[in-house]
Amino acid sequence: MEFSLSEEQIELREAIIRFARQEIVHDLAMYDKEGHFPFDSWRKCAEMQIIALPFPEEYGGCGSDFLTTVVVLQALGYSCKDAGLVHALSTQILCGLQILLFGSPEQKQRFLPPLCRGEKVFAQAITEPDAGSDAIGSMRTRAEKTEKGYVLNGSKMFISNGPIADVVIVFALTDPEISRLGGISCFMVEKETPGFERCHPVEKMGLCTLQNGELVFADCCVPASALLGREGQGAIIFNESMEWERSLLPAAHLGTLERVLETCVSYARKRSAFGQSIGKYQAVANKIVDMKLVFELGRLILYKAATLKSQGKRATLEASIAKLFISEGLKQSCLDAVQVHGGYGFTKEYELERDLRDSVAATIYSGTSEMQQAIISRLMGL
Ligand SMILES: Cc1cc2nc3c(=O)[nH]c(=O)nc-3n(C[C@H](O)[C@H](O)[C@H](O)COP(=O)(O)OP(=O)(O)OC[C@H]3O[C@@H](n4cnc5c(N)ncnc54)[C@H](O)[C@@H]3O)c2cc1C
Repeated sequence: MEFSLSEEQIELREAIIRFARQEIVHDLAMYDKEGHFPFDSWRKCAEMQIIALPFPEEYGGCGSDFLTTVVVLQALGYSCKDAGLVHALSTQILCGLQILLFGSPEQKQRFLPPLCRGEKVFAQAITEPDAGSDAIGSMRTRAEKTEKGYVLNGSKMFISNGPIADVVIVFALTDPEISRLGGISCFMVEKETPGFERCHPVEKMGLCTLQNGELVFADCCVPASALLGREGQGAIIFNESMEWERSLLPAAHLGTLERVLETCVSYARKRSAFGQSIGKYQAVANKIVDMKLVFELGRLILYKAATLKSQGKRATLEASIAKLFISEGLKQSCLDAVQVHGGYGFTKEYELERDLRDSVAATIYSGTSEMQQAIISRLMGL
């Protein structure tokens, strides 16, 4: 496989980096402390067509391939220090991909244009208070069929964009009697729907600008037209969506890693101790070398997963490896970056402590590291 970027992709990457440095200028320290969502920056990213990238032009998209979307999110992770905002944008794109792949022509026509323009915020709700890693097997949220449609009851937990979402893609049990694989369905629930409540965002250790919280469904009636895909297709949509998610979210992590790596190289060259730059000490240099290894190898496996998805192929193994390797590599690199910067690394001013806090979530959402190991070992026949 050839992973060198086209001239167009390189230009786009540079344009995104320029855009983020000039336009994403909200006071991140304050937004991070207060847990506020930067709506202005969200709108600017939407105007820059970052959300619209992988969607067909007929729905207001740019018609780019998936690898180009990955390259852009990597560039954004590199140049925009607000990882919460980048995660919110990635979530929006992933919801759009589910609609594009499984939606009816009416659903695509209705939801994709406002999604691309960032006018409506989207979220996807799988996890429940008592069902995370085993989301499909332990799901309790019910969707009972009625004459007019379905009635949803249950709650969803840790939903990114949930507290500010206009539309939520909700996974629920339509038939608890049959195997879980065929008994789950997917619904598009709009915020005005009676019985649907968006709770306050939870306070988190990192990704503080990302609005993430619980969603409650109490006798929430939706019409039959709210069904995404066919009844009973939920597990298939879930598996497909996890593959896209694990090929997309690591792109921003890789960009952050690239920025942290550059920061460390520059600091280790400038900072002196015992008469020479600290980068000359192998104990310091080795930490930075490890970051470089994660960056270079992570990029190869991520671009491979993205290329396979661009070609319409399966990438279950590659996406899981990319997710596991890059998220764990980012977390360790951020910890090492603080160490390389000594006391300054521990200050808010150097902004590395925020990268470290943000990085922890990457090893939890979209399936924990332990679950990625379980998937990889299963695919190896173990
Ligand atoms: C920032 C953030 C954003 C999120 N966004 C969303 C979202 O938009 N939509 C959504 O639906 N969910 C979202 N989640 C939820 C996330 O997907 C779950 O937190 C995750 O899947 C883990 O589930 P859990 O928290 O219930 O942990 P648990 O499943 O209870 O796991 C607890 C621990 O046990 C381990 N464990 C569990 N089972 C096994 C096993 N079989 N083998 C080995 N170890 C195991 C886990 O790895 C973990 O270390 C988000 C979470 C976070 C932190």
